[in-house]
Amino acid sequence: MGLGVFHRLIVSPLILLPPLVYAGGFHPHRYDFLPWGVRLILILVALDFSNFVGHWLGHKVSFLWRFHSVHHLDNHLDATTGFRVHAVEKIFFLPGKFAIVFALGAGTADLAMIETIGLCHAIFHHANIRLPERFEDWLSVFLTTPSSHRVHHHAELPYTDSNYGFIFSFWDRAFGTLRVNRMSRPIFGVNQRSQGAISENFSELFCEPFIHSISGTTTGENNAYSES
Ligand SMILES: [Zn+2]
Repeated sequence: MGLGVFHRLIVSPLILLPPLVYAGGFHPHRYDFLPWGVRLILILVALDFSNFVGHWLGHKVSFLWRFHSVHHLDNHLDATTGFRVHAVEKIFFLPGKFAIVFALGAGTADLAMIETIGLCHAIFHHANIRLPERFEDWLSVFLTTPSSHRVHHHAELPYTDSNYGFIFSFWDRAFGTLRVNRMSRPIFGVNQRSQGAISENFSELFCEPFIHSISGTTTGENNAYSES
């Protein structure tokens, strides 16, 4: 929760949001011919695609995995995992979001609403809840659901390398990374890291990517999360 508070209340308003507000207001009336709701959905979908690509890179690029793995080190997946984000990871993906917001002209109110929708959905898809199966099957056609995201947080391959979607699930369907599996007793965490091997202390988790060499990514031979 400390990581989430630091990201949402300090890094986001001071570092991430100002350039996006600037980018969004650059041509304020460019898309006035579109109804506000349509424009908002377009921006939401475009930013969600950038989240999908950023998440995929977070697993495939060793340096980025250093920071994203802090999110995956949680051995107990629940709504609080949605807050467990290393702020530095988000800074790396700012240029992509800047380009989208600049191109589509999002206003401050749009950005605030999209941030709120994203936070609510992060809480939802990390939640330790079980939805009625038929309802979740229907919902998962469009949205990332708790069951599908549980697969992504499994400690082992090939589960971790699937279901990268943040809000929408159709990106995984389009890029072949969707894995449907209702796990009865999933094991969460990162590969060989055993239960209790990682501190849950805020400062230690924040410093983890800087003080430990995390080899490899979730793919390939060096898929272990190892200290040096
Ligand atoms: Zn991930």
